[in-house]
Amino acid sequence: MRVYQPQEVIVEVGTEQGSVFKNLKRSLPNIPFTFVEDPQSYLSQLQSSEDPLGKGKKRLLLTRHRGEFLKKCPGSDGAVCCNYFVINFASNCPMDCSYCYLQDYLAHNPALKVFSNVEDLLEEAHKLFSRQRRFFFRVGTGEITDSLALDPYIGFSEQIVPFFAEQPNAFLELKTKSDCVENLLHLDPKEKVVVSWSMNPQRVIDQEEHLTASFEERLLAAYRCQQAGYKLGFHFDPIIEYSGWEEDYREMVERIFAVVDYRRIAWVSMGVLRNTPNLKRIMRQRFPSTRLLSGEQVLCPDGKMRYFHPLRVSIYRKMLQWIRSASPTVFVYLCMESREVWEQVFGFSPSCEKELGNRMVSAD
Ligand code: SF4
Repeated sequence: MRVYQPQEVIVEVGTEQGSVFKNLKRSLPNIPFTFVEDPQSYLSQLQSSEDPLGKGKKRLLLTRHRGEFLKKCPGSDGAVCCNYFVINFASNCPMDCSYCYLQDYLAHNPALKVFSNVEDLLEEAHKLFSRQRRFFFRVGTGEITDSLALDPYIGFSEQIVPFFAEQPNAFLELKTKSDCVENLLHLDPKEKVVVSWSMNPQRVIDQEEHLTASFEERLLAAYRCQQAGYKLGFHFDPIIEYSGWEEDYREMVERIFAVVDYRRIAWVSMGVLRNTPNLKRIMRQRFPSTRLLSGEQVLCPDGKMRYFHPLRVSIYRKMLQWIRSASPTVFVYLCMESREVWEQVFGFSPSCEKELGNRMVSAD
């Protein structure tokens, strides 16, 4: 993978004392650092440019986060939720997948930002976990950014992994499409950290997942993490239907289970391509040659467009069959899918979000 490098680091004055600034300075010796009193001027300038999101990815803004770091994952209306919390240590992503929902979600906040006040983040998480010791928290950092793509520069994993390793009632998922795992390999996750990869066949990566690691690079990174003591997760999401998809996805599933030890896989998720009308408009502008705009999709109750219900069920059943032939016991769930689809694929649907969350904890 060609590791991302920003063209410039924009630093909000007052953030220079923290570990993130020091790590950026050390790891980006040849990149200009510009200090600003108020990042708003940079943000307004970005907002008025052509393709603010694409431009925003080229520079890295180090700023203080105002507000809460930890939030409950919003899920999707009418879909079975898995009771997940998210920590936002950064916003936007240096990679550029054509289908990325952040293009719409961050349309009015497109800068690639990393937050300096990591100590506040850890304190907030510690308070929340200590207040509710009877609840088990599953937490991810990859909701509005990639969990690891910036790690070679900011070293966030070196703070968050040891923190979660000591929490009695929480574990962490680091979700990525990169192979930036070097910082993880010398840490001891103490069974409290799952490193997971969104996986697609190389054909889809080449066409739609720009600047990400290749399939084999992701798989090698997963293998290295497993050897270093981490549990693994795989997200087959978004699954894309095209002529020949079955062969590509079947080979991909077989290859993954041939390389990693299925007994160290905490979970596998499946989800088909999802769009909104607005995201489609943005994709058409930013990625005119994408092939993802031509297939038929229907509008679902949560406002997202997906393949027709029978096609989704058929895709999931095939995927599940390939996964089960490689590993009959691995925990598999659906991401943002309705109860009806769950029932047709698995023969049941979790009775409530807590049940799915608990199943994942006990699978782990
Ligand atoms: S890796 Fe994830 S967050 Fe980054 S552009 Fe792709 S879909 Fe978006």
